[in-house]
Amino acid sequence: MTNRHAMKVLLVVLVTAAAPTLAWGPVSHIALTYEAGVKSGFPVSQDLVGAYLAGSTEPDVGLDDGKSEDYGTYHSENFAKAMENIAQSKKSPDREILLARAAGIRSHLAGDSAAHGKTGYAEAKKMFHGNPTGLPNHTTNELVVDMIMYDRNKDALKKQSLNFIDVDTLIEVRKEFTRITGHELANNREQLKKELLNHKALVLTELSIAHHLSTSDPMKLSQMKEEYSDLNEGTTDGNGANKAIERISEQAKPCEDLSNFKTTNKGFKIRNYLENSLLAKSMQALERGSLKLTKSAVIRDSLQNFASGKVEAPRNKAFVNFGVNLLNKNLTFKQAVFLAGKATSGYPDDAAQKLAYLEIEAEALKAQRDKALADYNNRPWWKFWLIFTQSDKQKYEQLELQYQAKLREIEQVYSQIASTRADPPDSDADYAAAVVECTTTNTICSNAEPGLEELQAAVEAAYKKYVAASDAQDQAKIKEAEQELLESREKLKAAMPQ
Ligand SMILES: [Zn+2]
Repeated sequence: MTNRHAMKVLLVVLVTAAAPTLAWGPVSHIALTYEAGVKSGFPVSQDLVGAYLAGSTEPDVGLDDGKSEDYGTYHSENFAKAMENIAQSKKSPDREILLARAAGIRSHLAGDSAAHGKTGYAEAKKMFHGNPTGLPNHTTNELVVDMIMYDRNKDALKKQSLNFIDVDTLIEVRKEFTRITGHELANNREQLKKELLNHKALVLTELSIAHHLSTSDPMKLSQMKEEYSDLNEGTTDGNGANKAIERISEQAKPCEDLSNFKTTNKGFKIRNYLENSLLAKSMQALERGSLKLTKSAVIRDSLQNFASGKVEAPRNKAFVNFGVNLLNKNLTFKQAVFLAGKATSGYPDDAAQKLAYLEIEAEALKAQRDKALADYNNRPWWKFWLIFTQSDKQKYEQLELQYQAKLREIEQVYSQIASTRADPPDSDADYAAAVVECTTTNTICSNAEPGLEELQAAVEAAYKKYVAASDAQDQAKIKEAEQELLESREKLKAAMPQ
């Protein structure tokens, strides 16, 4: 079953991506390298771009199990140097291809240098105002950024090729690295070959997923771009894509004999892969609705079994759910994020955060209910069996019940939040004492801010506005109400006695 296969490959990618902590995902490295080339010039000729771009991903080879000792080796100036030395011993075009690959390695290092550790975008970026999502922050950011970076370069990237390193050349370079540095490396050919294959599969699969998302669900992609609108500039704590592109441009100096070089060995075309790969085809089949992922118990169960066998930490399981949700067109980006986290970690303990989850679930249920109602109202004449089974009507009614239940749950959490407010003082004397206590312990009281009652009322009003706007499907008003709701909630939270 090809769809099942596709989902397994997707899971392998997600499980793989969830393991190590990198600065940028592979598609981002390719795209950043490409954008730097467009902006400031490529260090190599068009025929060598395939090796240059593939090289920009290759320092991360072997990191799929998260415990490779080669990380430091491949992420070093000496490794690029060793590659250039080996290149000089080769005949054309292998010489130029390897030099272009070394330039790609340097591009990777430059890109990483702008984004490692805490100052990196993947680490510093927090989605949805920092509300806990239950997802692993760093790896989720990497995956989302990969999807966005592909989308913004997709027309250009489709015309490019990728030319990955072969195992024998890799071993030559590793031996040269040992000669230069004195650092011994185990050169297990079978192991390295496996790592190269895995790397290639990871890059191509991510490209395929990114391509699928970008062509089949542009709405979700624009939601992702909006949420990640600071990607170029970076967050206050972390450098974004601009910085990485700048660093790559700084070191990508054009070299005369590479800039004019022509070869027939360009690697394989990205477009061919995207059009012909089994994965891409399975995605299309999924898309055409021949098998609805979320509706198929078989797929769902096999996914869950597969994921629970491979993925230990709940956060990584949430990440796998997120990947599956990402491909579900019935979910918005926000829903894909929060529903994935909730499915594995449950609701957050904090009532205000739980409320945010419940509201997102309610939104999703409402959308499903509306669709079911429309299906029922517009039942086509030829679906005669529905007259007897009424299964479309039942489906609508069931969703309506679930939606109403969710709204009641929301009400309950609201009253829970309201009841955690301090008990109102009984007498004037108590009241005065409470005010004195408040002014000495809490600056909000002394600044004569509105009382908790008022703040709570503001939250409720904003929520009502939000519900009304969602009912009216007015995107501008929804956004406005969302903002208002968020602000009023923050105010209430801040004013709550600690
Ligand atoms: Zn790296």
